[in-house]
Amino acid sequence: MKHRHGRQLAGGFPALHRILRVGAVIGMVAMAGSLIACRSNPIAPAAGTAEPDPPERPAVNALDRHTADARKARVSRVKYDLFVDLHGSKDHFSGKVTITFELSDPASDLTLDFGGGTVQRLEVNGRSVVIDYNGYFLTLPPAALQRGANAATIDFEHPYDIDGTGLHRFVDPVDGLTYLYTYLWPYYANRLFPVFDQPNLKATISLSVLAPRDWTVVSTGTASTEAAGNGATLWRFSNTPPMSTYVFSLHAGPYRIWQDDADGVPIRLMARQSLAPFVAVDEWFDVTRRGLAFYGRYFEIPYPFGKYDQLIVPDFNIGAMENIAAVTFSESFVQRQPSDRFERESRASTILHEMAHMWFGDLVTHEWWNGLWLNESFATQMAAISAAEVTEFKDTWHGFFTGGKQAAYRRDSRVTTHPIEVPVDSTADFFNVFDAITYEKGSSVLKQLAHYVGEENYRRGVSRYLQDHAYGTTELEDFVGHQQQSAGLGLERWSAAWLHTAGFNTLSVATNCDGDRLRALTVMQSAPQPYPDLRPHQVDVALYSLDGAGNVLPAVVIPMQIDGPRTTVPVPGERPCPALVNPNHNDWTYARIALDERGVAVLLARHASIPDPLSRSMFLAALFDRALAGEMPLADYVRHAMRLAQGEESIRVQQQISTSVVTAVAVMQRLRPQTDTALAKLLPELEQQALDSAARATTGDLRRNWFTTFTGVASTPTGLEAARALLNGSKVIPGLDVSGDIRWDLLDILSRNGAADIDALLATASAADPSDYGAKRALKVQAAQPDAALKAKWLKELQSPRELEGLANQRAVMSGLFPPNQTALQLELLPRILATLPDLSASSDPYFMSSYASVLLAPMCVEQSSALMQQTLDEYTGRLSSTALRFLQEALQADRECLSLRSGQ
Ligand SMILES: [Zn+2]
Repeated sequence: MKHRHGRQLAGGFPALHRILRVGAVIGMVAMAGSLIACRSNPIAPAAGTAEPDPPERPAVNALDRHTADARKARVSRVKYDLFVDLHGSKDHFSGKVTITFELSDPASDLTLDFGGGTVQRLEVNGRSVVIDYNGYFLTLPPAALQRGANAATIDFEHPYDIDGTGLHRFVDPVDGLTYLYTYLWPYYANRLFPVFDQPNLKATISLSVLAPRDWTVVSTGTASTEAAGNGATLWRFSNTPPMSTYVFSLHAGPYRIWQDDADGVPIRLMARQSLAPFVAVDEWFDVTRRGLAFYGRYFEIPYPFGKYDQLIVPDFNIGAMENIAAVTFSESFVQRQPSDRFERESRASTILHEMAHMWFGDLVTHEWWNGLWLNESFATQMAAISAAEVTEFKDTWHGFFTGGKQAAYRRDSRVTTHPIEVPVDSTADFFNVFDAITYEKGSSVLKQLAHYVGEENYRRGVSRYLQDHAYGTTELEDFVGHQQQSAGLGLERWSAAWLHTAGFNTLSVATNCDGDRLRALTVMQSAPQPYPDLRPHQVDVALYSLDGAGNVLPAVVIPMQIDGPRTTVPVPGERPCPALVNPNHNDWTYARIALDERGVAVLLARHASIPDPLSRSMFLAALFDRALAGEMPLADYVRHAMRLAQGEESIRVQQQISTSVVTAVAVMQRLRPQTDTALAKLLPELEQQALDSAARATTGDLRRNWFTTFTGVASTPTGLEAARALLNGSKVIPGLDVSGDIRWDLLDILSRNGAADIDALLATASAADPSDYGAKRALKVQAAQPDAALKAKWLKELQSPRELEGLANQRAVMSGLFPPNQTALQLELLPRILATLPDLSASSDPYFMSSYASVLLAPMCVEQSSALMQQTLDEYTGRLSSTALRFLQEALQADRECLSLRSGQ
């Protein structure tokens, strides 16, 4: 699956993946989560000792590893024969499932996961059984079970979900059409039907569905249909291959369908009817065809699942989900105006990420959720490898550096960080590992691994691993073992250093020069407490000298391995004393670089003259790290970045400049009043330069980039006047159409800065855009108004919804509620936000909790906010879910870090 995408600077809820990816810094944290390896054999009791009674399974909305392991040890050869009726009620669906399985030990209860439904009938092995159902799982008593083959038949009902999990139901406000889709990862298949909902009980699933006649129904298999009377059609799907339940799916509705062919594999793309005019169908199919061909070659396994459907669905909680042969995508990948390069690349990258999962994750699956990281990191890595190979985004690793990698360093510096490979005790803990460690750090480390063992050895190891374990489940050792075999290298020490420790290393350089002659060069490796581990790094070290005019010359690049605290660089021949050194040139390894004072001085004077764009980016990131660490005033960083932007040719560096500048300004706004003087001077210049750069831009991508920068920072009277003029058409940026989605960005500016006529502006905008997208953007605009009473009302709605239904709408409100210029209003409500954490974390889904406890606790940067958060931690720790606890701890850390920046501005 992929975290949600979304341009950070634009509107919409900036959830998950992409917010991290653009280097969200203080307090704009999103999410992540993860798990550890399951040993499938239960511990056998020692001879002569009595076997203790197994602990009772707790009645909670989660599956713990112990229960899953015990079940896996008893149950095998599972098959589901599932019928689902979507033709009846608008509130719920009903169904019948017959589960056949082998049971090795019928002596104790056996549970079937089924969350939030009702059970009408239970029959086991031909006999009716009294229903024992607690709302979380159904218990089959030993008396009904037998050793060997068993069959259980259950008639059930379940309400449609509206929070984006299970079987989600959505009604399009434009045309009233109903759309359904499932989202079953990691533990929501049990909201569709009673099931052994764990990845290592792979099963064959036979599905039939009754649906209204004008709907299309999509699932893993291929379908045949027959009229069923009463306006309904019966859909019968071919049996699936053995598969994990979390990648099963059932989508239905009057979707618009496009179809084509990819070298013999039928491919389809689907979206809501009202969104259909905006879907980039040709581009989508082009990437799909290229991706399927590339992966078939790379893995040496043809696409294994017969047909490949992709559905773009509303209210999606994350970016996309790799359901076998029926992948779902967030509608954030559809723009109602021409997409810019960033948007097209996000789309391509996500298509390729999900497609990689068809082999790695779906065909071969982790035993348990500790394996999530390898699944996600691999798909993320493959998306970059394939994008660089078969799409226009040849420099996609550069984008990975400025986005995902910065998110990984950020996540890895949180108090809640963890090793890449960690135990996951329960599906309730998935938000502790659904994060930038599991996605971006892991993929950074796999990139380093491929560089270390050699790209072709790596590819061959992957291919053999997939061939050996097709349709099965694996543990980390299986993957590492194939890499060792393929490369002929021992990887025990490498694995221990990289996969089983937390934190990152920082590389710096000591030069020993005799006048202008280099005598020795040493790379120093450090690791901040509390994670002091040093690691082996296969890197390129780049030495830069200056020409007579003081400009940076192309680098001398030295490939080498760094190991331990100090490594001498084997400098070839006589070299001049370098003005600047990059110990991680080409970004092969996962380690931040630290600049010395001389390097900083060279950059401040000559940054733009560094020849290659990735190097300019890496040095810019190092400067931004200094600013965020308080080693350089934020305003100085912004000025430097904006100077660099003046002549910058790379759109990637331009985007990095923009996102970092917007982030820096947001932090400065949170640091008021210390930053008042600096902001009073900086903001008007920044607004003007952003507007001028947009107006002068020679490409649409650059224009959008600078317009987005403007919308991110606009807050002075002149800036607001410009926003208003752009909105009413009295000011025009040539080539920029503000009648579409980006009009909402202008409304965001006016709302969060207290425009008196915002209600009237909002009414006009909503009338012009009655879509679901417009409705959610309107919620954000309403929530952003700097009005204490309104904020309190919205907060109450989030805590106990009366009118605000569904997680997607709740997230829209959260995204607007506390912009960085409204920390005083946020502080006023902070006690109420904190007081509800225990109850909400007990009653709400982790997806809600992760948004609530991160977005609403963005840093206020005062003693009082930190003290209140600390007090909540002290008082409530035992009453918080692991998700609430994680985000509260991170919020407190970010608040304190922000507070510590006050003195240096
Ligand atoms: Zn994924």
